[in-house]
Amino acid sequence: MKIKVRRYHPHFEPPTIDMEYEVPESLTLLEALHHIKQTKDRTLSFSSMCRSGVCGSCAVRVNGKEELACEYRVKEGDYVEPLSVVDTIRDLIVDFNKSLHSLQRSSAYPLKMHAGMSEEEEKLIERQSDCILCHSCYSSCPVYETNQNFLGPFALTRAYRYAVDSREEQKKAHIDAIVMDGIWDCTLCGNCTTVCPQSIDPKSDIMMLQSMASRFGYTNPNMGSFGSFGLEF
Ligand code: SF4
Ligand code: SF4
Repeated sequence: MKIKVRRYHPHFEPPTIDMEYEVPESLTLLEALHHIKQTKDRTLSFSSMCRSGVCGSCAVRVNGKEELACEYRVKEGDYVEPLSVVDTIRDLIVDFNKSLHSLQRSSAYPLKMHAGMSEEEEKLIERQSDCILCHSCYSSCPVYETNQNFLGPFALTRAYRYAVDSREEQKKAHIDAIVMDGIWDCTLCGNCTTVCPQSIDPKSDIMMLQSMASRFGYTNPNMGSFGSFGLEF
């Protein structure tokens, strides 16, 4: 079967070109990319590490949708390109530095925590803790596409994880950090939730953060006021 890969090299003219390759059937996309590299074109560049859907390093777009190359099975006519929004370094390799910086800006880490957490409390933040930083949610986010200062889905999901952590004593400080270029800028389109390979729901987490922010006295500048989603904290 044939698949197409969007190639990119900053020093080529033109820098972007679509290349078609013949690959065997029944392969994962990552296996197909290795096959191309080993048998047809050694210059093809892509990222991979664990090969088992754990590290998140092989995320790409296939036919316009974010996928982990190690989990996706290739089909005839597939079109493979790098994640969008983030900068492309070479072929399918992208630069995560800018989006990773949003984790720091959003205080998506413990601030002042006391010890001890019940099993039930741990379950509340279990899903968010599964994020593998694959960046698929950023690639799919229409707000991040137009505003690179937007904190973005995985940073907000992590901020939620720490803001509702029962051990955290500075919950308001977490909210203060995600008001500007954060929770109110999200259009709640749900793209991030659709593409997440870990079944994390950043859209829902952002709605919960909006509710928390309302209870700390913040108002949604787009809607005047925002309702509560029944969150206790
Ligand atoms: S729901 Fe919000 S964060 Fe998620 S993709 Fe849409 S705009 Fe971006
Ligand atoms: S929230 Fe999901 S899509 Fe976004 S980086 Fe984490 S694992 Fe990937």
